[in-house]
Amino acid sequence: MRIGLPKALLYYYYFPLWKTFFEALGCEVVVSNETTKQTLDNGTKFMAPELCVPMKICSGHVAELLEEKVDYIFLPRMVSIHKQETFCPKFLGLPDMMRYTIPGLEEKMLAPQIHSHTERVSHPKDYLILREPLEVSLQDIKKALKQAEKVWCDFRAYSKRGYDIKNATDLALGQVTEMELAEKNKNPFDISIGVIGYVYNIYDKFVSMDLLNHLENLNVNVFTFEMLDEMEMEMELNDMKKAMFWTFSNKLLGTGRRFYHDTHIDGIIHVTAFGCGPDSFVGKLMELESNECHKPFMTVRVDEHSGQNHLQTRIEAFVDMIKKKKNALKTQKQRRA
Ligand code: SF4
Repeated sequence: MRIGLPKALLYYYYFPLWKTFFEALGCEVVVSNETTKQTLDNGTKFMAPELCVPMKICSGHVAELLEEKVDYIFLPRMVSIHKQETFCPKFLGLPDMMRYTIPGLEEKMLAPQIHSHTERVSHPKDYLILREPLEVSLQDIKKALKQAEKVWCDFRAYSKRGYDIKNATDLALGQVTEMELAEKNKNPFDISIGVIGYVYNIYDKFVSMDLLNHLENLNVNVFTFEMLDEMEMEMELNDMKKAMFWTFSNKLLGTGRRFYHDTHIDGIIHVTAFGCGPDSFVGKLMELESNECHKPFMTVRVDEHSGQNHLQTRIEAFVDMIKKKKNALKTQKQRRA
């Protein structure tokens, strides 16, 4: 059986788990292609104009998978992975939005409801509805999830050791070795920037306009939220009267605050997509914090019409400003010594 996974949204966080799970059940996993302008244009045809860019992109990927003649498309309803928090309302309504707007999807959609108290999302109860369409037993599901959970825990462990999502995924799936990656990442650079944004914004090269590679080409070390331990992020929010309702937004805010207090991080870039409600809170709070901590902060907002050249110039100016600031501080210290 061929199962389509749209290369969008939480694909970037849970791919190692879901790929291992479906393959352990004997399915072939078909992933949609990298996002392009065409993907977004296709998605925009189906979705309401006021929806955020990542949701439009997801529907573009779903439409592409339908053309691939897959048997099913996996579109879970992500409700929660943390006590007393949920995903943003668009995730909660995702299967319904897609079902009622994309012709031909209804009968091909696998939409289990993931309602977990931990990030592992591998509780068999959440996947029971897959028994019938996939013609598998509860035992098969349990066994496959156990295997998938192990791979996902490895993936998270690699991320926390500083590997980006792509490398952590390849390592966890055994597609590359640490020795091979060590060769590539031999020289850490002088400037470090924390990039804050949902995984589907910063790791989708189309959405982020390849921001991470631009930074690497400018000799910048990049740090992102998934490289932090959950406890570290949560601790940063302890002094807030009330955290936000949405898990990943809290993660971003916790990470941003951590970066502000981390002397190794020289500046912060927030990548946000047009139409994102939760990010209007995260962005504003980060901006206020930036004034207090005197650390450079920049927002990159992506919409249907964003252009690469414009971004390139802004990033270069931002990195330049950080370099100058750092050099001036160094000279000051040398004079005092
Ligand atoms: S958090 Fe923002 S970008 Fe992500 S799905 Fe919700 S509204 Fe869209």
